[in-house]
Amino acid sequence: MSAQALSEELVAIATAHDIDKVGVCSAEVFTDVRAALHERKAAGLSADMQFTYRNPDRATDPRRSLSDAETIVVCARSYRRSAPETPPTPTGTAAIAEYVWEPHYGELRTGLDAIAQHLREAGWSSRVLMDDNALVDRAAAYRAGIGWWGKNSNILVPGIGSKFVLGSVVTNAPLDVVDEPLEDQCGPCRRCIDACPTDAIVADGVIDSNRCLAWLVQSAGVFPHEFRVALGNRIYGCDDCQTSCPPNLLSDRRDAPDRTTGITTAAVRDLLTLDDTALLAKFGAWYIPRREPKYLRRNALIVLANTADPASSEVRQLIERYVRSNDEIEKAHAVWAADRLGYDDLVAGCRADGSEIVQAELSKIGGKP
Ligand code: SF4
Repeated sequence: MSAQALSEELVAIATAHDIDKVGVCSAEVFTDVRAALHERKAAGLSADMQFTYRNPDRATDPRRSLSDAETIVVCARSYRRSAPETPPTPTGTAAIAEYVWEPHYGELRTGLDAIAQHLREAGWSSRVLMDDNALVDRAAAYRAGIGWWGKNSNILVPGIGSKFVLGSVVTNAPLDVVDEPLEDQCGPCRRCIDACPTDAIVADGVIDSNRCLAWLVQSAGVFPHEFRVALGNRIYGCDDCQTSCPPNLLSDRRDAPDRTTGITTAAVRDLLTLDDTALLAKFGAWYIPRREPKYLRRNALIVLANTADPASSEVRQLIERYVRSNDEIEKAHAVWAADRLGYDDLVAGCRADGSEIVQAELSKIGGKP
């Protein structure tokens, strides 16, 4: 079978699995991206993020995943959806990033597996790489001509935007390779840079992870003070650099997305009252630092402080519960939340606490004994 005929069969399989865009590129090393990852890592812009920063040489060399790889089939599945109205509650609701409203990665994997299986049946080797440290999938999407690199570092598909999950099949099959990256189409636009609530886009296409809310909610330890107010009501992810982006806005205006059937918000009350098992059962598909639910509660305490009505007795009870927590991360963020909500007596009640983290918190908010 010719490379073109096999490629056409793979595109047909992808289309049958609701994959919106397919591209094929060569499996050569992504030299420019490798250099950029090393440079950004050395400059501290990756913070404690792992993913493709863990091993840039591996993540930019498809042959580390399949030794005789020749080509990469790159697939993009749209997650554009609209959210239903959420009725207000006294303790508030927390926002969830659009890409996790529905299990898009699971659906994409089904399509990638079908492509990989078809290649194997045709006598070739193949390996699926999706949401994986082993490949910078955006670099493959760019090389395959699926989209251009936006200033927000996402891949933008012409006429559609950036709301896609990406995945790849690495194979030794000789396919109809594109390798024709698209021209930049951002032009003079800089809306994502201006819209970022923490100024995390520090140069065109360069994100400082130390400032990126989407990373900070997934990072362990104390949530940086200077970004807590900016977190607003976000419990997972941050969509601002995408929802401000004209190609996404135009796409939604031209072709209104379907209403989602997934979960678009989380009740702050749930996040602060469910036990560990129940929290992981409900939100365990997310990246949670070390799989420790206390980090969901840490983020929820910040959301509560940013959004709740201090006059609500339920809000006060939740804060009271956490200033008595045995976990110092939970307690420290409850102290900050108590201060922000004006519960000075609860802050004062923590002054004798023996935890260094709690004392550091008191010191920062001016509640030092
Ligand atoms: Fe490019 Fe503008 Fe979108 Fe940013 S907001 S990615 S600059 S088009």
